[in-house]
Amino acid sequence: KPRIREILSRELPPELLEKLPKHWVRIGDVLLLPLRPELEPYKRRIAEVYAQVLGVKTVLRKGHIRGETRKPDFELLYGNDTITVHIENGVKYKLDVARIMFSPANVKERVRMAEVAKPGELVVDMFAGIGHLSLPMAVHKRARVIVIEKDPYTFRFLVENIWLNGVQDLVTPYNMDNRNFPAENIADRVLMGYVVRTHEFIPKALSIAKDEAIIHYHNTVPERLMPEEPFRTFRKVAGELGYEVEKLNELVIKRYAPGVWHVVVDVKVYKS
Ligand code: SAM
Repeated sequence: KPRIREILSRELPPELLEKLPKHWVRIGDVLLLPLRPELEPYKRRIAEVYAQVLGVKTVLRKGHIRGETRKPDFELLYGNDTITVHIENGVKYKLDVARIMFSPANVKERVRMAEVAKPGELVVDMFAGIGHLSLPMAVHKRARVIVIEKDPYTFRFLVENIWLNGVQDLVTPYNMDNRNFPAENIADRVLMGYVVRTHEFIPKALSIAKDEAIIHYHNTVPERLMPEEPFRTFRKVAGELGYEVEKLNELVIKRYAPGVWHVVVDVKVYKS
């Protein structure tokens, strides 16, 4: 945006103008801005100018997403309201961008889930977040969905989003750790939209799945272990439980860290 540069050229040393972010992420009317350390002394003014030119109410400095419940640690630079409604592919997602992750890089997977879902099938989303992957399935295909989310704050938005999208007759929310979810052999499709430790949840996903169900198994994989992983681990765990599995499809979602990729494998399970 030349306008941003023009305004800031009067306030920043010329060498720092080159370091201004050229890419950013907009979620609803909140902006996630990656800022280099050299810009630290000017960060609030830079955020203010980006907000005004791009027409957003709040600017957060893009940081990392960490821990079991995948919480962002984004610094607030401008504005104060970090809650917004983001509309993507006809689905409304209300969230607190400062405290709940929403990855723009996963958009293709959110769209793909709407495409693969079938009307009336039962989907269990084991790591639902705010309904990232499974709301599109209910909204576009009228799939029935059980969404499980452990974090109470994220769960509040998940419930709100079910009503906001008018799919309360199709989606049943559970605020619990998916390891405690009681039902077995119920799902036509299981979503495992989680990274880093997803393999620990393979036995639970297999118990929730019906015979011939499809499991969308996400994980992060070091490049040197690809393409065998992550399917090799999935097949090993399933084999130990006496199940056969078939790989239907595999996609790379995004680079997760240097030399590490976020991958999803579609696996069909044969239980009998
Ligand atoms: N599935 C969405 C996606 O792929 O965009 C959201 C992913 S988000 C990274 C994962 C969510 O799983 C977080 O909201 C986290 O709180 C939740 N979670 C982590 N461990 C869980 C568990 N054992 N049971 C239920 N939810 C869990």
